[in-house]
Amino acid sequence: MDDRGILTAVFAAPAVAMGVLWAALSTGLADVEPRYVVKLAMPDHTGKIGLPVVEGPPDASRPLVVIDAGHGGHDPGASGQDGEREKDLTLLLARSLRDALVASGRVRVALTRDNDRFLALDERADIARRLNANLFISVHADAASVAEAHGATIYTLSDKASDSVAEALAARENRADAVNGVSLAGKGQAVSSILVDLARREMRGSSQRFGELVVREGKDVIAFHAQPQREAAFIVLKSLDLPSALIEAGYISNLDDAQTMRDKAWRKRFSGSVARAIEIFLAERAAPSLVTATPVAEPVSGSGPTDVP
Ligand SMILES: [Zn+2]
Repeated sequence: MDDRGILTAVFAAPAVAMGVLWAALSTGLADVEPRYVVKLAMPDHTGKIGLPVVEGPPDASRPLVVIDAGHGGHDPGASGQDGEREKDLTLLLARSLRDALVASGRVRVALTRDNDRFLALDERADIARRLNANLFISVHADAASVAEAHGATIYTLSDKASDSVAEALAARENRADAVNGVSLAGKGQAVSSILVDLARREMRGSSQRFGELVVREGKDVIAFHAQPQREAAFIVLKSLDLPSALIEAGYISNLDDAQTMRDKAWRKRFSGSVARAIEIFLAERAAPSLVTATPVAEPVSGSGPTDVP
């Protein structure tokens, strides 16, 4: 074989192989009937997930609250002693809060998820941003290694956790993205500047004010943890430039708390009080001079209502 012959063989061989393979595949496929069809929800061309329905008054000037049911899909969240899953309880709580706000008719509301689907932490915050939300609330029901741990807690964002329990909780909640095989920790960190710092400080103050209102409006309904307002570095709140909080409605690991959260009538009372806090908070922000400031107890340990579930 001369040089040209060798070259021809080298280039022709793969083509022949492909042809043989294709023929084999075509013959094989023709004999097999498809047994099922797998349909996957693909993101749109922007790579972003679709926005949820906005409920409430059809008036775009009304403030908008985005309520985020924690976990979902292949991320069940924490588990209770009776086998209940956090993702189911958070969905029930989020829907109940949505219903309370829609019934009241003062603000618009959207849920990040109204079914059992997985959302990455940044997708949850992204929904709030794209909807131009005025407030973002993520609802959870944590587990603690100590079965006696019980009561509701309002967490707001801080780079420095207020205590080791808050820090451990943030670490657990932030793990949600690792479940999806992608760690988003550290992603989207803002460039440090004075303006960013000022805006962050303002958001932190507003978020804490919202926490105070939840504790104040809920004191007769919700059994708060002895230290009901805490801070930690939650990824889901980190990239938001709007007031936000993470509400742990109770400990799923505590039998009494889990039973309470499963109770529809309790969820309605819980939602009624949180909805009131939301409406007062948004009214204060819309017209600060029109709302009479009411002194609120300092969020220090032991100042909250009793630690009884
Ligand atoms: Zn959670």
